[in-house]
Amino acid sequence: MMNDLLAVRGVSKRFGGVLANHEISLRVPHGSIVGLIGPNGSGKTTLFHSIVGYHQIDGGSIRFDGREISRLRVPEIARLGLVRTFQQTRVFGKMNCLQNLLVSVPHAREGLAAMWTRQPADVTQRARQILHLAGLQDQLGQRAADLSFGQQKLLEIAMALMNEPRLLLLDEPTAGVNPVMIESLITLLRDINARLGITLLVIEHNMRVMMQLAGHVYCLAQGELLAQGSPAQITGNRKVIEAYLGAQP
Ligand code: ADP
Ligand code: MG
Repeated sequence: MMNDLLAVRGVSKRFGGVLANHEISLRVPHGSIVGLIGPNGSGKTTLFHSIVGYHQIDGGSIRFDGREISRLRVPEIARLGLVRTFQQTRVFGKMNCLQNLLVSVPHAREGLAAMWTRQPADVTQRARQILHLAGLQDQLGQRAADLSFGQQKLLEIAMALMNEPRLLLLDEPTAGVNPVMIESLITLLRDINARLGITLLVIEHNMRVMMQLAGHVYCLAQGELLAQGSPAQITGNRKVIEAYLGAQP
């Protein structure tokens, strides 16, 4: 479909004997927030890895804005505007918040020393704006290691925004975050979507969060697409409930 920013069709990914993704298809329309849920080990992170080019897929197609990207490398895909955050938080603890954003722009890889001396004013300006959007304007000069865990999650998303994503993939952004900070994260994600026009694909276990964010949710189980629908439909879906209950020890 022309109005899909991301179209995953029949994607499979195998690790030795483990079929981590089996013929998964999903669509992420321009400007939408789409959710991805499923028990641990159901293949969610694997699918993200395949989308951003970290894995070579064994079958299927991945189209970004109409263009096949499944044979492209990670940096080429990132340049097209497809950016991810990680399940494990990754901030530079000894750097302050502003510095964390400045080292997140692609040209920072030329070397940190060169960066500090040649940092264009407009990049610093944008970093400040993004920190403001993330509600971290008062923590600008604070070391990332001294932030709360929830604030580190906000910072990580702010870092991803420095790459000017068109589609942002978020892997369990609220995992381990306290309820108050979860509200801040939801607000940030909604702002990113509504005010910056960035499309989101979000892995999230918390259905209450999903209700507030996503218009459409896909559910994986054991590497297969189990169900899809509105958050309300998914919450009431018997197969989804069984998949989650069945996954508990
Ligand atoms: P989820 O993110 O839904 O918890 P994953 O995508 O991380 O699930 O894992 C799906 C399955 O693929 C699991 O059985 C996991 O052990 C396996 N898997 C994931 N990554 C690798 C890898 N790099 N090598 C081997 N097996 C992997
Ligand atoms: Mg995962």
